[in-house]
Amino acid sequence: MQFCIRDDDTSFFTSPEQLERAYGDVTPWGPVSLAVVPFHRAGTSKGVPEAHRGRWSVHALHGNRALVDYLRQATAAGRYEVMLHGYHHDEPDGHWEFDRGDDLTRRVADGRKYLEDLLGVSIRMFVPPHNAIGREGLRAIANAGLHLGGVAGVRGGWPRWSARTWRLWLQLRRWRIGGGVGVPWVLDLGDHREIAGNAVTPVSISRVNEAGFAAALSVDGVFCAATHYWELDVPSLHPDQPTVRNQLHLLIAKAKTSPGVSWRSVGDVVCAPGAVL
Ligand SMILES: [Zn+2]
Repeated sequence: MQFCIRDDDTSFFTSPEQLERAYGDVTPWGPVSLAVVPFHRAGTSKGVPEAHRGRWSVHALHGNRALVDYLRQATAAGRYEVMLHGYHHDEPDGHWEFDRGDDLTRRVADGRKYLEDLLGVSIRMFVPPHNAIGREGLRAIANAGLHLGGVAGVRGGWPRWSARTWRLWLQLRRWRIGGGVGVPWVLDLGDHREIAGNAVTPVSISRVNEAGFAAALSVDGVFCAATHYWELDVPSLHPDQPTVRNQLHLLIAKAKTSPGVSWRSVGDVVCAPGAVL
């Protein structure tokens, strides 16, 4: 089974210290894939510090020199993978950036090239802000040759005329009806691949993620833990649940100790030949 960690919302507003506090003791064991926003607009996202929220000003990543230096170094050392996380992330009219729009192809191309040149990396994965993607967004990333962090599904833009769509739909439906938890495979949509994220957040329940991990192990599949560095120390909304950080570390401990688990970047897991539906 393959294990990976996806962390969303690194942007101009992120400090190297925040990422070190989150992953300094994690990346010696395996890589963390960071979904990075190239030009963050200071809207309503919780990844934006409160003092900037609602100003709608745009902040390019290169304005944070310390972070750029840190990311260049740490990605070169194999500690992080860089993924594209939208372009502005927040939109003033309240719609999700990659849900719809006629500018998405340009945003994907420009955002990707900017991050690749700035950080000296090559990008294989796109993670939509707020996990929201529509038909146009999906087409934009597929045209760019990127894969999706998340599962779009039929409502999120899988082509309805495609036999492949309905074969996957049926396979996943059978898996769920049979009591299967999560989506423990990489999904091949023909023009791109998708990998489900298992949310590790203040609303998540440890037992559910542990069941998802066990399911992935049982089918020699994939498990991607999806979290945010900025909320690792936020207490769970459920009084009986560990903090977000502890929930993540429970999964990491399983990845380290379960036989047959290989821990790789999200892009490596998605591009690997095995465990593809
Ligand atoms: Zn985000």
